[in-house]
Amino acid sequence: MARRKKIYEGKAKILYEGPEPGTLVQYFKDDTTAFNAEKKDVIEGKGVLNNRLSEFFMKGLNEIGVPTHFIKRINMREQLVRSVEIIPLEVVVRNVAAGSISKRLGIAEGTPLPRPIVEFYYKDDALGDPLVTEEHIIAFGWATQQDMDDMVALALRVNDFISGIMMGVGIKLVDFKIEIGRIWDGDFMRLVVADEISPDSCRLWDMETGQKLDKDVFRRDLGNLADAYTEVAKRLGVLPNNATPMGKPTLIN
Ligand code: UDP
Repeated sequence: MARRKKIYEGKAKILYEGPEPGTLVQYFKDDTTAFNAEKKDVIEGKGVLNNRLSEFFMKGLNEIGVPTHFIKRINMREQLVRSVEIIPLEVVVRNVAAGSISKRLGIAEGTPLPRPIVEFYYKDDALGDPLVTEEHIIAFGWATQQDMDDMVALALRVNDFISGIMMGVGIKLVDFKIEIGRIWDGDFMRLVVADEISPDSCRLWDMETGQKLDKDVFRRDLGNLADAYTEVAKRLGVLPNNATPMGKPTLIN
């Protein structure tokens, strides 16, 4: 049997050639890394959870007219996505101070920000994904002024949508990272949300207890990461409420 072609392998996902031109299969691994891959582990079931959670968010975004690369989930670990030209930026939106903004600007973690703040980081592992400004982005040609305006608008719509959904299940969306790609239709280009949206790329805090339900559990050794992601999935109805804390979750369709 012919082996399918691997297009790219990252830290947490693999991209394979898709069944039709312009499509890819995105495979979610259990590999977990933090601090630019200095800390690594394999967390059984994480890929399955992130596949389902990213499907849940991307599908919802598509439904409200925020374009994403997501087409459909194929199986427990794979989804069919549109092939995009990734803009080499990580777009971060923050509602509450945490992580790098707290360190950089000396703002205590947990301080609500006066308004959502959108930041851009240049995607380059060797450089540790440095924070960049609009000046750098436009001067170096990573995106145009129009792209910048569109990226900010997209990121804020994603923020409103995910914040609302999470608030409905008692979770605060503290911050998140998205990646944005270009899709070409003939001479026309549009920007879509790509990569993944999962607790690997968000900070999620329980609104009552402040408990962390995201990758900080792994980064800061706060407990079992798969249990935290399972809790998010259960609250969102992506997993049945009686699912086992982890191992191999029973997934509903
Ligand atoms: N983030 C991410 N990938 C990265 C860097 C950050 O998904 O390479 C997410 C991170 O999980 C958090 C948000 O972006 O939800 C803001 O991260 P921050 O800049 O505070 O960096 P960190 O403290 O995670 O190093």
